[in-house]
Amino acid sequence: MEITKPRVALLASPGMGHLIPVLELGKRLVIQNNHHATIFVVANDTSSEQLSKLVNSPDYDILDIVLLPCIDISGIVGTDASLVTQIAVMMHESIPALRSTISAMKYRPTALIVDLFGTEAMAVADEFEMLKYMFIASNAWFVAVTIYAPALDKKVLQEEHVNQKKPLKIPGCSAVRFEDTLEAFLDPYGPMYDGFLQVGMDMSKADGILVNTWEDLESKTLAALRDFNMLRRVAKAPVYPVGPLARSVASSPVSGSHVVLDWLDKQPHESVIYVSFGSGGTLSSKQTMELAWGLEQSKQRFIWVVRPPLDHDVFDSYLTAGSGALNTAEGALDYHYLPEGFLIRTRDVGLVVPMWAPQPEILAHPSVGGFLTHCGWNSTMESIVNGVPMIVWPLYAEQKMNATMLTEELGVAIRSKEVPSEKSVVGRGEIEMMVWRIVAEKQGHAIRNRVKELKHSAQKALINGGSSYNSLSKIAHECENSLQFTQEKAEG
Ligand code: UDP
Repeated sequence: MEITKPRVALLASPGMGHLIPVLELGKRLVIQNNHHATIFVVANDTSSEQLSKLVNSPDYDILDIVLLPCIDISGIVGTDASLVTQIAVMMHESIPALRSTISAMKYRPTALIVDLFGTEAMAVADEFEMLKYMFIASNAWFVAVTIYAPALDKKVLQEEHVNQKKPLKIPGCSAVRFEDTLEAFLDPYGPMYDGFLQVGMDMSKADGILVNTWEDLESKTLAALRDFNMLRRVAKAPVYPVGPLARSVASSPVSGSHVVLDWLDKQPHESVIYVSFGSGGTLSSKQTMELAWGLEQSKQRFIWVVRPPLDHDVFDSYLTAGSGALNTAEGALDYHYLPEGFLIRTRDVGLVVPMWAPQPEILAHPSVGGFLTHCGWNSTMESIVNGVPMIVWPLYAEQKMNATMLTEELGVAIRSKEVPSEKSVVGRGEIEMMVWRIVAEKQGHAIRNRVKELKHSAQKALINGGSSYNSLSKIAHECENSLQFTQEKAEG
């Protein structure tokens, strides 16, 4: 029997920040290209409330969502295995289940799309003669850095970038300042760097790399990725900007009324600063205190998604998986780590939300005037598509690069002069001033106008005939052609 609809399988690595954009990409393939999409979810706890709320959201009814069996990583949790290692182990161990599920599917998918941690699964696509794509839920600059890494000389990297702290030059792209560099680069002879290099090499083996950006946002970097004299020489796979892929209000697990949204309904237009560090970001006790004082002193309205502090370096917590980025946001809190009386003193202007908030709804709400964010790329996209200016507070992964791009290249955010680290914190005065500047001052208006321009540019990229729309259509055509070829072959 002839099947006319290409079927695409997408593999999402553990963590809400990885799953959400994969679901959004699947949704786009179904709605825009009339494909059939199956999402394979790897998670350490498939019964978690936040995960089941998300995958059961009516907005994703159009997807087939398959939760792969949980992988028991209890043997490495609590050891010094990094979060990255934990994810890599889960992805590796999930491959047999992925293979057997695909093998048992009545209609074999035409293509497999894997994310940053799923490159090993591209071998499964080869086994079943499927097309294989990578989806990077970050920006083109990060793709450029990753794909260029295998071409770097380790010795030079160690000497110039790590020891002398010189910027890392990437052909045709902005250089990466040492202060913004990726954790992997800090030890070019360590296992994390080897894993990163492998991803860079695997990228070149894909039939294409989909990236959560759009042409006008990163035209220079995208041009470098396509130019043989710059990055195309090393980046053998074509790059397709298909973004922004950001959750819409309808796809958030919250429906109808919610205490936060009811509260926002009562606040003036663009008056509230929303503070959140993504699905797992945490601050130290001292920094949490300063942030509380800064918010209080600013006298501005706020919503703050708080997590219990972690008292070692944020950078370290990411490496040792202490950041909780694999947690799916459950957990009761008491607020002993906030200044005494803080909740009472700020109750008329602020809302403290434990662990998890309905972010898409919050950012889409007209009362929100700014976002203090850790610069995870999903949060960044969600802020831009809602025209919300940002205060950047990067914690780990490529977030420092994102923060620099948002402040210095795109002009849609401000940042602290003080750099938070293990040894120092951003003081309450600085926080007060940043909040004031973004929601109450003229500078905030200028930045808001700029982010609204980007919002419109994003909308243009996504509509029929727009650059991201066309990019995704190219992938769709490749899938259609491949399906046709397979069918003709089967018919002899
Ligand atoms: N998120 C949310 N509520 C929260 C925290 C996070 O809905 O309280 C969502 C957010 O909307 C985004 C994702 O979780 O889609 C976080 O992804 P991001 O890339 O910003 O950061 P990560 O968590 O991967 O560091």
